[in-house]
Amino acid sequence: MAQITLSDLAHSYVHNGAETGDFALKTLNHVWQDGGAYALLGPSGCGKTTLLNIISGLITPSRGRVLFDGVDMTESPAEKRNIAQVFQFPVVYDTMTVRENLAFPLKNRGLARAAIQARVALIAEMMGLGDILDRKARGLPADAKQKISLARGMVRESVNAILFDEPLTVIDPQLKWELRTQLKSLHRELRHTMIYVTHDQVEALTFADTVVMMHEGRVLQTGTPESLFETPAHTFVGHFIGSPGMNFLEAKIEGSRGVINGQCFPLGASYRTASGFTQIGIRPEYIQFSADEGLPVVVKHVEDVGRRRIVHAELANSPISVSVPEGQFFDNTMARVRFMPDKINIFVDDWRVQGEAL
Ligand code: ATP
Repeated sequence: MAQITLSDLAHSYVHNGAETGDFALKTLNHVWQDGGAYALLGPSGCGKTTLLNIISGLITPSRGRVLFDGVDMTESPAEKRNIAQVFQFPVVYDTMTVRENLAFPLKNRGLARAAIQARVALIAEMMGLGDILDRKARGLPADAKQKISLARGMVRESVNAILFDEPLTVIDPQLKWELRTQLKSLHRELRHTMIYVTHDQVEALTFADTVVMMHEGRVLQTGTPESLFETPAHTFVGHFIGSPGMNFLEAKIEGSRGVINGQCFPLGASYRTASGFTQIGIRPEYIQFSADEGLPVVVKHVEDVGRRRIVHAELANSPISVSVPEGQFFDNTMARVRFMPDKINIFVDDWRVQGEAL
């Protein structure tokens, strides 16, 4: 295994890309710690696969360097990098049995027969493939084939990292949940560096200890799932994470109070006056309805989503969502909302600013 460092990395698919817009990947610096469980999260086209392919050596970056434990691997071909990659669609050898499929990467590297048998048996057991080891891959359903691909990605003990590129796309929703949890516990046991690419926040947040959130070729934030939820570095992260995402409302900030439409409310920290477009960000979970205190809202409609209700309302002509947990009283006469002061984030020109403790 290795620590993988990306230093001043950028990539353009356009030859000699000169404009910023030409770069599928804008300049980024990042260290993937040895043994970490990472998710690379972002909407379609933000550059996730490009980044993954640069790490595995399928693409040589236009600029910058890729280091494995301090050794420059930027120009090294994929086969020299000792990286396992699992793709969106299963890559299996149909004419081989499941066992032969799993053994293949180990045989290729000349491992002893007994070591191969033991490792294949262990990984097959962990992935729930133990019962079909002697079946031919041909004819197996798509999810079983993708399980084989996943298992093959994990079968080599000595890899520098395992890269998963949206590996659960072809899996049905129930099994998706199961496999996500399985991958997490496999990471705990095997301790390989794993980078899991997805546009699905639930997959990212359940699998990863560290999430790298991308947008338009740029890394906006790297942190724990909790930090992306509680203190998003950029409004895009706030929108993208959570269901529904964070509410953003234009506001004036005066020290430790916010003002919307002439109405004041307390903040959990104190802020210096900053020039630029100022918004508060508050999660639907951290807003409470009240009959007579707080800022006035107009309720538009209520959505029942199982164990809570999402109330869609308007505050000073801006849309706002409020999450009302099961068992909490709510009726349409509650025309005001209060924000939990410690849960308010302040954004200037879309970037979060840090306040000073009160
Ligand atoms: P998805 O989730 O849809 O796979 P992604 O986040 O993985 O998206 P990339 O596939 O890395 O994003 O694509 C980033 C940008 O680079 C996109 O604008 C895409 O159109 C462009 N791109 C990707 N591959 C190529 C290529 N081979 N040639 C030219 N442009 C490309």
